[in-house]
Amino acid sequence: MTETDAGEPPAATTPSLNPTQQRTLDALRRTGEPIVFDQALVTDIRNEVRAALDHFATRLDDGQELFVTKHRIGSVLDCEAHFLAPDEFEWTPATAKGQVAHRAIQLHLGWRGEPSPVELVNEAMSRLADEDRGIGMWIAELGEADLADIRGLSSERVTKFVESFPPLDPRANPVTEAAAQWPVSGPILLRARVDMMIGKPAGAESRKVIIDLKTGRVSPRHRQDLGFYALVETLVRSVPPRKVATFYLDAAEAQADDVSERLLRTAVRRTLDGIDAMVALAAQEREPIKRPGSSCRWCPLAESCTEGQAHLASFDRT
Ligand code: SF4
Repeated sequence: MTETDAGEPPAATTPSLNPTQQRTLDALRRTGEPIVFDQALVTDIRNEVRAALDHFATRLDDGQELFVTKHRIGSVLDCEAHFLAPDEFEWTPATAKGQVAHRAIQLHLGWRGEPSPVELVNEAMSRLADEDRGIGMWIAELGEADLADIRGLSSERVTKFVESFPPLDPRANPVTEAAAQWPVSGPILLRARVDMMIGKPAGAESRKVIIDLKTGRVSPRHRQDLGFYALVETLVRSVPPRKVATFYLDAAEAQADDVSERLLRTAVRRTLDGIDAMVALAAQEREPIKRPGSSCRWCPLAESCTEGQAHLASFDRT
């Protein structure tokens, strides 16, 4: 998939696209006139977030730092008690499959010829194991059965991607795991790592499409996560993306939204609400608020949480 100077993806006329790839292309391609956001809007958003971060920073102790990610915003707005609970994350084949698959897709973008998904996953795992950090250290220690498990799970994901996406033209600057941070330094930093970004910058025209790859069910949280990505991209590059999309691999379907002033302003409000709560908890200004909801199902505090137990019981009765 690529875009010409006019912003039209020529892959639409490529005869070898299967129906799913064509549907993906139709969901992500530009429709209508080129989009150029008013620079006054971008400046206003940057100024608003900058002023809010400066104010929040005055409530933190000297040396206290806050990293703001889509996951942390969603978590603190869901239930503050859960947000503060010890992180029980551990690598397993199921939790590792996403990162391995993303690395394999990254290799796929630059690979000449037509490598099989298993070939890509094998190479991705071997490269990750060579990296002396994070998931790589964990993979390097695994036995054959766990390696086979990850290979199978990740290959399934890569296969679905390859079958669902049109070939991505390098001229459209497709990147996976694209990292962004704003501002460059300070006690509060917004950080995003986007599954996939496509689109070549062209002045102030919005051309980029941000894509989050998901398995499983549609959730309202997915759209909110994309709003955060669009906001960080706007803060970093001063050009909002053109479109944001969640691609559901199991259903082979993209749910895409055009980026608008409303989407960006909503993302600003939600992000600042989340940071406000994080700061209040970090500075111990108040007790964490419990908000029973879907996160009770995987909350490590659930057994001893009265509100969570009541919610889970009502959930079981429905
Ligand atoms: S069980 Fe539910 S309400 Fe209780 S702390 Fe966990 S997420 Fe919050």
